[in-house]
Amino acid sequence: MTDCLFCKIVKKEIPSEIVFQDEVITVFKDINPSAPVHLLVIPNKHIPSVREMVDIDEIILGKLFSGAKAAAEEAGIAETGYRLIINNGPDAHQEIPHIHMHVLGGAKMKHPMG
Ligand code: AMP
Ligand code: ZN
Repeated sequence: MTDCLFCKIVKKEIPSEIVFQDEVITVFKDINPSAPVHLLVIPNKHIPSVREMVDIDEIILGKLFSGAKAAAEEAGIAETGYRLIINNGPDAHQEIPHIHMHVLGGAKMKHPMG
């Protein structure tokens, strides 16, 4: 999609701090971090939200977990732990309509969420 911010990050049309990219996913630093480590893992394919995913996207979206796992190891938070969040739709405050998994870590988080 041409006017999607995260598609532009995938295509490097706007600057971002990409820490990993392959043919399926891109991992980059959140511009407004909510934790010492705050990464976003996104599919390179424009999938607006879980609502729009089709069955074959299961393979692509499964790779968000592999990307988060590798990025957490690389960032040094794999052992201490991290929170994976996908905000989906208006009530969950999904601001960017391109599926993204937040990887938050590097500090003890509050519990419960909500
Ligand atoms: P969400 O509320 O789940 O849609 O999260 C969107 C996230 O994207 C927020 O944490 C923003 O800080 C982040 N964000 C917005 N624009 C950029 C950008 N240009 N580069 C990196 N992260 C961004
Ligand atoms: Zn997009």
